[in-house]
Amino acid sequence: MIALGGWFFGLLLCERFSQDILSNFQIGIVEQTKAYTQGWSDLEEAALITAIEKSNNNDQHIELITGDGTRFLYRHPKRSSTTLSPVDSLEGVSESLRSGIGYSNFTVQGAKSSHPSVTLAFESKNGTNYLLRLERDPRIIISQINAIFDSVIMLGLISALLAMVMGHLLYRRINRQFHVLTQVAVAYSEGNFSARAPKGMDSESILLGEALNKLADEIQDQISEIHLEHNRMRVILGGMRDGLIAIDELGKIVLINSVMSRILGFEIREARGRHLSEVIQDPEIIELLLNTLRVQRPLEAEFDLNLEPSKKSFKAYTSPLTDYEQDVSGALIVVHDLTQTRQLESMRRDFVANVSHELKTPITAIRGIAETLYDDEGMKPEIRQRFLGKITDQSHRLSTLVSDLLALARLDEKDSTTTEPIDLREIILERINSLSKVSSPDSQASLHYHGPEHPVFVLGDDEELRQAIGNLIDNGLKYTQLDGNINTHLSVEDGTATVLVKDDGVGIPEEFLGRIFERFFRVDKARSREIGGTGLGLAIVKHICLKHMGSIEVESQEGKGTTFRVKLPIFNGKFSSESHTE
Ligand code: ADP
Repeated sequence: MIALGGWFFGLLLCERFSQDILSNFQIGIVEQTKAYTQGWSDLEEAALITAIEKSNNNDQHIELITGDGTRFLYRHPKRSSTTLSPVDSLEGVSESLRSGIGYSNFTVQGAKSSHPSVTLAFESKNGTNYLLRLERDPRIIISQINAIFDSVIMLGLISALLAMVMGHLLYRRINRQFHVLTQVAVAYSEGNFSARAPKGMDSESILLGEALNKLADEIQDQISEIHLEHNRMRVILGGMRDGLIAIDELGKIVLINSVMSRILGFEIREARGRHLSEVIQDPEIIELLLNTLRVQRPLEAEFDLNLEPSKKSFKAYTSPLTDYEQDVSGALIVVHDLTQTRQLESMRRDFVANVSHELKTPITAIRGIAETLYDDEGMKPEIRQRFLGKITDQSHRLSTLVSDLLALARLDEKDSTTTEPIDLREIILERINSLSKVSSPDSQASLHYHGPEHPVFVLGDDEELRQAIGNLIDNGLKYTQLDGNINTHLSVEDGTATVLVKDDGVGIPEEFLGRIFERFFRVDKARSREIGGTGLGLAIVKHICLKHMGSIEVESQEGKGTTFRVKLPIFNGKFSSESHTE
């Protein structure tokens, strides 16, 4: 296009140059004709013809014509008579007769085909009028014009060729860069946002490449942001202790966490994208979510689900989900498991009822006896004595009960326990000795210690560990016949101290073994009361063991005896200040 345009422009210029050359050529002849006529106006006819002959040369054809334009006075000698035209047929003669000057063949085409001429009328000194006709050979200007045309054509060809070569090179370069950029764009479309447009391209390609690179940077940033968000959400959902489901406006599950999938008993991947009713059997949850979509406001409800092997209680909170235009686009449900709370509430109720009952029994007994004593002033001293003894027993029972309740309350509330190295051996021996001292060998079962002669240290609270070991040995004595034995074994293995309190007493029926650590549980209530039991001793022991990172187990055979096994981590001597508080 550039070459063609240039060429066309060149041709126009040529045309213009040709006109200029022709016009200069015309002016040249006119000037010369005028110069001749002025120079020769003084001459007589004969001298005039001589002057004309002198000035003549091969290229110039001069004709002198009479003033009326009827005949030649002089003609170019070299012109053959056959090519001579009669005066009246010469172009420009009649025009010069009319206006003083006449022209012929002054066009480009004319100049190419025939000789242009100027005919000028002039008057000589003696008053005679003549016409001087000057004709020029146009070959010189024709060759000039042709040379210009040839140059323009050549230039056109060369520039067309150059334009084609440069155009081709430019095309190849742009095409190559475009190809590279296309590959980068294809990589993006395939999800590879690490691809980048190379540097060092042409300005337009650089702009496009930079735009692509910027786009990829932004997309990569957004992808990492989404990944981060996704991970955060995964961690939050995974760490949630409540179940969660989100649905879209059509009721299809878009999000579900593992707790919810566990509660409802299906896999997360099975549920995603499916309608609520396809995966969830429980009408409460479906209805609550669909109602939330319908009423477009948060709802809450409590319901029970029959989950094998037991029934569980839940509280659900729902909330509508809105999109960026604040239109409701789905709903969310969070399901909180209330089962444990309900169990705790029930245990607390039972505990309060048990405590009231346990307190009421001795108080009622004391009150009854006191009233009898008050009413019966003449009571025999020995009966009065027996009644007072009963009041003392019941007061002891009350006191023990209150002490155990206080111990439990302390254990429940204490969030910091003093930890110091405690010698288990010493605790066991002290308890055995103190119990052996207060009673004669015939009034209770025998107490024995089996274990190392050196101290066995654990980290813990002295008072609490004494109470735990003491309760177990006391129980051994309480539930073993007078001729029985209570053997306490202490051993250390793999960093764990084990205390076995083994008796050959009444034993515990197998069906109650799982319940003896419950508060106020007693196998035989009457017997336990009779021997001063509160039903809280083992609950306290278990609490203390767990608090000291240990454990307690029981083995028993009814009528043969019971063994309690307490395990506690031993203290290895490296006592750091951090372990002073739990
Ligand atoms: P209590 O004050 O009644 O002894 P505990 O909590 O210490 O309460 O014990 C709970 C129940 O476990 C007792 O009532 C008793 O039935 C049973 N029990 C505890 N220790 C023994 C044991 N060494 N031999 C037989 N039964 C035991």
